[in-house]
Amino acid sequence: MRFDTRLVHEGQTPTPGTGDLVPPLHLAVTYERSVQEPLRYFYGRGENPTRENLERCLAALEDVRFATAYTSGQAAAEAALSLLRPGQRVVASDDVYGGTHALFDLVRARGVTVDQVDLADPARRDRALGDDGPPPTLVWLETPSNPLLKITDIAEVARLAHRRGARVLVDNTLASPALQQPLRLGADLTLYSTTKFLAGHLDVLGGALVHDDPELHERLVAHRTTVGSAPGGPDCFLVQRGLKTLALRVARQVDNARRVVAALTAEPTVGTVHYPGLAAHPGHQVAARQMTGPGALVSFSYRGDPVKLMERVRLFAAAVSLGGVRSLIECPALMTHRPVPRDTRLRLGIGDDLVRLSMGIEDPADLVEDLVRALRAGPA
Ligand SMILES: *Cc1c(COP(=O)(O)O)cnc(C)c1O
Repeated sequence: MRFDTRLVHEGQTPTPGTGDLVPPLHLAVTYERSVQEPLRYFYGRGENPTRENLERCLAALEDVRFATAYTSGQAAAEAALSLLRPGQRVVASDDVYGGTHALFDLVRARGVTVDQVDLADPARRDRALGDDGPPPTLVWLETPSNPLLKITDIAEVARLAHRRGARVLVDNTLASPALQQPLRLGADLTLYSTTKFLAGHLDVLGGALVHDDPELHERLVAHRTTVGSAPGGPDCFLVQRGLKTLALRVARQVDNARRVVAALTAEPTVGTVHYPGLAAHPGHQVAARQMTGPGALVSFSYRGDPVKLMERVRLFAAAVSLGGVRSLIECPALMTHRPVPRDTRLRLGIGDDLVRLSMGIEDPADLVEDLVRALRAGPA
């Protein structure tokens, strides 16, 4: 089965006896069992058939055996970081999700070293993963990054990291498995906030880790059962419902992004446009090699007041999150990246004038019209 078919068919085995093509939503948190013959299902914090259907689908999408679902992307990231011991070293992208910065602070407090570097820059990457410094246990990268959409070469990072015995985790939330498959490029683990593209409808939180290591799977399941970060049946059902249309939604979202980018580059009030699909983007060639499309996020610097722009648009909702069916607009300095100290933010290239768009599945002509009208409505 190919990817688009797997989205619809994997983890959808009809129930014996009824033949229903949508597996039932399992709500039970406990299961009757005989003491002589213990069942596979014991208690909902550990096992739930609806969760297992979702996990079967998530693993199949990347052609591996294991996926663990979580209550959120943050819970999935925490689970991956729980594997680290004091004294170990992590090399991570500098431009990571805001919540990831906060989790890194927690592991630093546990005595783990986290060195954040610009892994999208080949010279800095080679230095951080070269033979000097202590060997890392884990390399954590996010590509495309948020909000600047910097591109890191996954295969090259995996090659360098494996030489030093490190595992590579890719936060693949911004691309989704529809556009990028890190495990095929040599990474060891993919992390998702399924809240975003995978569920896609802005109505459920979820996260996942996907990989092919049986020993790791055992550790992750034990950790999740202990801390209680497994999602319930209804949330898993909603994520899997969303997954069925992932390929269709992402294709439309990428198309909408291309149309909006073309309009933005012609507007005099718009400065640099960050989009990996543009030939001038520094990661353009690597993106073309490792992704099947340049994504559905766009950011740009605006020569006006971003707050006024957010007030003037009508179809784009001023809101955080991304990857859903509705188009969103946000100003990272005021919203998603507000907790990042201003000098750090500016050093990363996230100016006060930066605006980020997450494309929905609306008609592109409506989106372009709305944005262009808002950009032209002066005074800035
Ligand atoms: C949203 C997001 C997360 C965190 O996911 P939640 O589901 O909100 O907990 C992690 N990484 C990236 C890149 C994200 O966009």
